[in-house]
Amino acid sequence: MNPLKLAIAGVGKIVYDQHLPAILGNKDFELVATASRNHTIDDVPGFTSITAMLSAKPDIAAVSLCMPPQYRYEAAREAIRAGKHVFLEKPPGATLSEVESLKKLASAHAVTLFASWHSRHAPAVQLVKKHLADHPPRKVRVIWREDVRHWHPDQEWIWMPGGLGVFDPGINALSIVTEILASDIFISQAALEFPSNRQTPIAAQLTFKDATGTDVHADFDWRQTGEQTWDILIDTDNSHVHLKKGGHELWINDARCDLPADGEYPSLYRHFSQLIASRSSDVDVAPLRHVADAFMLGEHVVTDAFI
Ligand code: NAP
Repeated sequence: MNPLKLAIAGVGKIVYDQHLPAILGNKDFELVATASRNHTIDDVPGFTSITAMLSAKPDIAAVSLCMPPQYRYEAAREAIRAGKHVFLEKPPGATLSEVESLKKLASAHAVTLFASWHSRHAPAVQLVKKHLADHPPRKVRVIWREDVRHWHPDQEWIWMPGGLGVFDPGINALSIVTEILASDIFISQAALEFPSNRQTPIAAQLTFKDATGTDVHADFDWRQTGEQTWDILIDTDNSHVHLKKGGHELWINDARCDLPADGEYPSLYRHFSQLIASRSSDVDVAPLRHVADAFMLGEHVVTDAFI
């Protein structure tokens, strides 16, 4: 079968680091164009807007949207209305309502909409989900602490409304938690710390509950220098699960587990291809909903200016 002609809109860090190698390694896709105001990819025709790209290359079948979330909805709407399958980087939009609107639009145009959550494709995630199906969790501790200056230099969008601040990485943890836990959780208490000169939080503490009494807590902090932490610790009645490095290392009862060698983005593109082949969509807003709940319910605390 001929590969699907794929385009990328919003060429930046995640495209160069992850999308490009994953697409080049997947025979189901052929990268035929980019739409980005200032960036291009060597040997791939580049356009400065999605409108110009779709008009010049009508044979494009699918588009990956990798710009910051505040600018994703308009691009997605345009691509869907042109009959293209759409891959949304995380988070799928700046608001829940945008994503609901895109779901309806994709259904009306009979195209695939994929709201991707790359951390769900980390190699430990499905193993932990299986383990928890047999060993119900009693206590879950999420510790996601990283250095914003190292990971997000010069990304002003992340501090603007809709940029999510520390929830930009934190939502990855929430995407794992909502995948591995069988029961619905909901925030009962939250505290968000906003630098006095910024619009989005630099740290957040979230306490969740669920109908079965599972005790879930998340600690997100962007001020951690030195060793970085992307860990989830889970106690069940007879096991202790330690998911480390964002789901790339797994320990159960202090024994290290063997994990598949697969990468997150190759797995995302395989899933996108399967969705297109089966004429279906995959749009789960649960991680974004928890972030919206945190903004809605959380105490807002002003902290030191971010310089
Ligand atoms: P980025 O490099 O700051 O931005 C990506 C590209 O988006 C930019 O190079 C820019 O290209 C375009 N862009 C920026 N502002 C825009 C605007 N106002 N309107 C239209 N396009 C604009 O960001 P990134 O780190 O790649 O992240 C992009 C998305 O991927 C985010 O949602 C992020 O959460 C997600 N993500 C990032 C990472 C990571 O490690 N960085 C990991 C996983 C997921 P042009 O200037 O050429 O238009």
